[in-house]
Amino acid sequence: MIPSASSASIEPTSVSIEPKTVWSSVLDYVRARTDPQRFSEWFEPCGCLEVAPDHATISAPNVIYKEWIEKHYRALLHEGFTHALGRDPELRIAIVPPTASAVASGAVPPAPAARAAAAATEIGHGTAGATATLAASPKQAATAAPIQIEGYTLNPHYTFENFIVGPSNRLAHAASLAVTESPAQVYNPLFLHGGVGLGKTHLLQAICQEMLKRAGRELTIFYLSCESFVNAYIGSLQKGGNYIELFRERYRQADMLLVDDIHFLANKVAMQEEFFHTFNALYNAQKQIILSSDSTPADIPTLEQRLVSRFKWGLVAEIEPPLYETRVAIIERKARMRGRELPKDVVDFLATRLDTNVREIEGAVVKVLGHAFLENKTIDLAFARSVMRDLGGRPGHVGITDIMNAICTEFRLKLSDLQSAKRSKSIAKPRQIAMYLGRALTGLSLEEIGGHFGGRDHTTVLYAEAKMKELRETDADLRALLDRLTRELQRASAS
Ligand code: ADP
Ligand code: MG
Repeated sequence: MIPSASSASIEPTSVSIEPKTVWSSVLDYVRARTDPQRFSEWFEPCGCLEVAPDHATISAPNVIYKEWIEKHYRALLHEGFTHALGRDPELRIAIVPPTASAVASGAVPPAPAARAAAAATEIGHGTAGATATLAASPKQAATAAPIQIEGYTLNPHYTFENFIVGPSNRLAHAASLAVTESPAQVYNPLFLHGGVGLGKTHLLQAICQEMLKRAGRELTIFYLSCESFVNAYIGSLQKGGNYIELFRERYRQADMLLVDDIHFLANKVAMQEEFFHTFNALYNAQKQIILSSDSTPADIPTLEQRLVSRFKWGLVAEIEPPLYETRVAIIERKARMRGRELPKDVVDFLATRLDTNVREIEGAVVKVLGHAFLENKTIDLAFARSVMRDLGGRPGHVGITDIMNAICTEFRLKLSDLQSAKRSKSIAKPRQIAMYLGRALTGLSLEEIGGHFGGRDHTTVLYAEAKMKELRETDADLRALLDRLTRELQRASAS
């Protein structure tokens, strides 16, 4: 009934060491090396979500904390973890807004009221979401801690009420609502696909929250990222014995299974086989399956044909980038959710500058509000412009996002390809061109540009820049392409 509670011991994803214990030792380390006021200001609202063999994930209550910690305390925290664990884990910082349930569970400390109110919530990404597993039943929803957390909680803001509907996402939204009304009856599976930051995770979590709200009977819902499904499987294989059976049973008892970012199955043959059986078991038992992906089933590289065809059995709905009116509505809503109204010209400015990705739009709103609060400034057009300049999107100058979009269009790639680890030539070269143009046109640092390409190291950007400079001298076609893209980008940004 509550699979996660009893199966914590078979959940092989990551939690091998109690995060709380490690965190308290890390805090001791950091406390001894920082100013007490700074310490309480920046570290007390944070927590440790998970300690895995190769990485540790810290929670920050909002984007301002995340960025501040990234900038000023990453090295010290890393030292603290290395000291506490006796090994050198990769450090990840996830934004987890404090919710009643999370705070109650001790996974996330409460944020200081003033900052939390002003800086508001999160921008909906980070690593915790990517590795989280959550199981919940409506029975739990009735209690004080409504949702059981295993390293991650449903984002309380990812509800249908908070989802702005427009022509670009109408079908995906309607279908998501429909599966909450008649699970496994109308669309099974429901397959949502679209580029990064367009609301796939939001809709999947909205479905979970809606089910928890309306289900009048016992129901077992699994919401997890494909990555954590894969990790759980690998973990069960490593443990051997009957762990594989337990893994299988666990997911097959779901009434509803939601797997986010299913494209993660690309190139994982054994995992595809495993998922195929899970899918069949659930489908045959008339349980609802909901999947999200950055591309259509057919476009997921090396996805077995039998999975491609199954994923198309129900409804495949695309989410496209929002149109101007929808962007305006999203900006207004995101500001209002944080207790602020933005002037019309600021809303228009943001909606015009940011036209691809809702996550980015939300990030800009959070930045504008956060900076205004921290610097005690009134939000007007000039102020919004100056904040956006910091984001690399100054008017009259080319922003890194413009470059990435232009490259995606030119080479028919997805933004997620540019940001992925993929190294095939058809992706690596456009990525290098984008990095080169980023250096030539934006004034962003190597680190900042690397950050926009899935967190690449500054040396990778440096290498791309040098390589393109060199090729430019000998390859006339490339030179023509670089010149044309530069002209087009400069022209577009000037208008
Ligand atoms: P994806 O999973 O497609 O990469 P997310 O669901 O994480 O994207 O969305 C990124 C951010 O944008 C989230 O904070 C989400 O709340 C917000 N968002 C996306 N689409 C909408 C929408 N239509 N209305 C309101 N917020 C949205
Ligand atoms: Mg997502």
